[in-house]
Amino acid sequence: QADERESMYLVSEYASKYFQTQMHKTDEGQAIGLSYFKERGFTSETIKKFDLGYSPDEWDAFTKNALGDGYKLEFLEKTGLTIVKDEKTFDRFKGRVMFPIQSMSGRVLGFGGRILGNSKKAAKYLNSPESDIYHKSKVLYGIYHAKQSIAKEDNCYLVEGYTDVIQFHQSGIENTVSSSGTALTSEQIRLINRLTKNITVLFDGDAAGTRASMRGIDLILEQGMNVKVCPFPEGEDPDSFARSNSEAELEEFLKENSYDFITYKASLLMDEAKNDPVKKADLIRDMVQSIAKIPDNIQKEVYLQECSRIMDISEDVLYATLAQLEKKDG
Ligand code: ATP
Ligand code: MN
Ligand code: MN
Ligand code: MN
Repeated sequence: QADERESMYLVSEYASKYFQTQMHKTDEGQAIGLSYFKERGFTSETIKKFDLGYSPDEWDAFTKNALGDGYKLEFLEKTGLTIVKDEKTFDRFKGRVMFPIQSMSGRVLGFGGRILGNSKKAAKYLNSPESDIYHKSKVLYGIYHAKQSIAKEDNCYLVEGYTDVIQFHQSGIENTVSSSGTALTSEQIRLINRLTKNITVLFDGDAAGTRASMRGIDLILEQGMNVKVCPFPEGEDPDSFARSNSEAELEEFLKENSYDFITYKASLLMDEAKNDPVKKADLIRDMVQSIAKIPDNIQKEVYLQECSRIMDISEDVLYATLAQLEKKDG
């Protein structure tokens, strides 16, 4: 079992080198892959740091090469790099720019591959499937390059996508990681929790994810961590914002627009409820539910007071609601 996993790591490492060679050393790779990254504003240094690559637009170019270099089909299939169907073999990633996903210690676990441009014909991002070495729920994109900075800054920026992580690193903000497409999990939060107690969640300015991300945040509170949120302007995400602003402007934006999560949620909910008392009652329960996740009693109390102020409801009522919830959850 350990031997099998080692073989899967070796195949993944080989694939990462292969995709990089394809991008830097072939005409197709340079013309399509490398220029794509350059157009997105990534420097050569950044492209190298994140081992970005390109998978050629052919049926089985990678698989053939790997087999030719002595890698076993068994492990090519187990890592999901090769798809076997009717005794034929196909590359999973074709004509995509490649983002290797690394573990905390820098081993390649899997890949994200992005189509070029914005065609709607194929999924924008394709990821390696779950495997014995790649467990999506336990991995954070960028953690290998971010871990030192997270500890040093005593804060972690959590963004939505690969390119947000990369652009932030390039802008000098290296304490940045992403759950890359999957909903945030407790295991991912635990990885961060070992390095810092402070997380700032950055939302794309496209509303779609905001509500879903809010649920993920309760998981962070549960681990006794401090959560801030920083919503980006409409139509912007951390990548696009970092690209079109100077490093100083970015730092300034993050400072000015990071709100304590509980406070942010309370005012968000208040906006929603406006003067509808029935809705307001629901939202107050929602709010108290978040606060109930906080393990520390003093912190809980501070937030209940804050909430009472923002939502204009007596502390007694909030305490009673909390007590009800805690009784129900046993
Ligand atoms: P880009 O800037 O390259 O267009 P993005 O990171 O801004 O990409 P979003 O649409 O904001 O893309 O999605 C955030 C993340 O969700 C992506 O980085 C990717 O990890 C994941 N994701 C997005 N679309 C898909 C998809 N169709 N299939 C799987 N994962 C996806
Ligand atoms: Mn988004
Ligand atoms: Mn985005
Ligand atoms: Mn983007």
